[in-house]
Amino acid sequence: MNQKQPNDEKSLLENGYRKYHGKGINIYYNREICEHVGNCVRGNAQVFEVGRKPWIIPDNASAEEDARVVNTCPTGALKFIFKEE
Ligand code: SF4
Repeated sequence: MNQKQPNDEKSLLENGYRKYHGKGINIYYNREICEHVGNCVRGNAQVFEVGRKPWIIPDNASAEEDARVVNTCPTGALKFIFKEE
């Protein structure tokens, strides 16, 4: 698997993050870190919807949009890794 930074998937998974697969990007979420501030849900309710399973669907927006919203998370509970084509 050839993936770009900013994050290393192995260390994310070892540190309690769950992976949500998308075509162009994967999103990782750690609920131990999340403080339910809600920037993610407010940022894009198609991608992030509390109560839905899975609650994160990366392919409901572009990879760039996913990355934009993930970067608004103030706690570090959300991470992303772009996938190579
Ligand atoms: S923005 Fe981050 S801290 Fe806030 S609810 Fe979403 S994942 Fe949790």
